[in-house]
Amino acid sequence: MSKFWSPLVRTLEPYVPGEQPKLDNLVKLNTNENPFGPSPRVIAAITAAVDDSLRLYPDPEADALKQALADYYQVNTDQVFVGNGSDEVLAHIFQALLQQDQPILYPDISYSFYPVYCGLYGIDSQVVPLTEHFAIDPADYQQPNGGVIFPNPNAPTGRCLPLSDVEAIVQANPERVVVVDEAYVDFGGETAIRLVDQYPNLLVTQTFSKSRSLAGLRVGFAIGHRDLIEALTRVKDSFNSYPLDKLAQVGAIAALEDTEYFEACRRTVIDERERVTAALAANGFEVLPSAANFVFARHPDHSGEELARALREKKIIVRHFNRPRISDYLRITIGTPEQNSQLLEGVAQLV
Ligand SMILES: *Cc1c(COP(=O)(O)O)cnc(C)c1O
Repeated sequence: MSKFWSPLVRTLEPYVPGEQPKLDNLVKLNTNENPFGPSPRVIAAITAAVDDSLRLYPDPEADALKQALADYYQVNTDQVFVGNGSDEVLAHIFQALLQQDQPILYPDISYSFYPVYCGLYGIDSQVVPLTEHFAIDPADYQQPNGGVIFPNPNAPTGRCLPLSDVEAIVQANPERVVVVDEAYVDFGGETAIRLVDQYPNLLVTQTFSKSRSLAGLRVGFAIGHRDLIEALTRVKDSFNSYPLDKLAQVGAIAALEDTEYFEACRRTVIDERERVTAALAANGFEVLPSAANFVFARHPDHSGEELARALREKKIIVRHFNRPRISDYLRITIGTPEQNSQLLEGVAQLV
């Protein structure tokens, strides 16, 4: 605390990202990164773009990337917004669309950045408890609100809502924006992007950080009605005109083009998720059904804190949230087959 801090800064409770330990030889399964590197075509495109033109500002609208996304998802370019990671896209969404006269709704167990944005932008929220099985019940989102946001698949639970349930939430709130944060959808969910032409209040966000192995490049996007996109563009152009640098723009386009590599990576992650789930269950864990690139699990005889600490001693880092309802759970990112085997060996020695 300092006398120089603004009143707002004094009140902030910033997001705490999963740690990025600066040690080698860790089995790092704590931040849901992809265990496989980006497509070789991404590396080639970025390498080719490193030249004198870096002295110039990049395309402020990232038009080529928007066009590539529009083609990929079969929407118009004016239905696409891109930003410096979907965290930035979400921040603009909170400020541009979720700052209304009533509290917004989001699940009690979901992405912990949502309450942080509420604090930053002075938005009231009401948390909606997940069911006892950690599912989102669409009926809970029929109460008056200033907007709705939830991840699908949800994080950190991994549970996925069928598209018909997402649609029910969108239909129940025609006067409010419903944001579906699809950071993990490529690992087993069904995207709501194909509903955006039907519902002007639906906004879908996705990221290149997880399924496209580009967390370090920082590219995220939103797709929805062009009026929603225009609101985001107004905020972006009042904040930072060039959120995506030139290398990020060309890298993201190359990632979208390499569908074969993308399919192979996500297939492996999904197969490995099923193997990890079965092996954890065989060791007595309760594992929630996951449609993401992580599993959420607890053991009836060991606390989450104890397991996370013991795994860390074996140089295996997983995420533990010391929060109500989930303090006994571990969120374990699916790694390479080798990392997953190390995890499973480590776990078998502990339980
Ligand atoms: C990882 C994640 C994001 C943010 O991803 P970016 O790296 O900022 O694109 C957004 N929402 C959820 C639920 C996530 O897990």
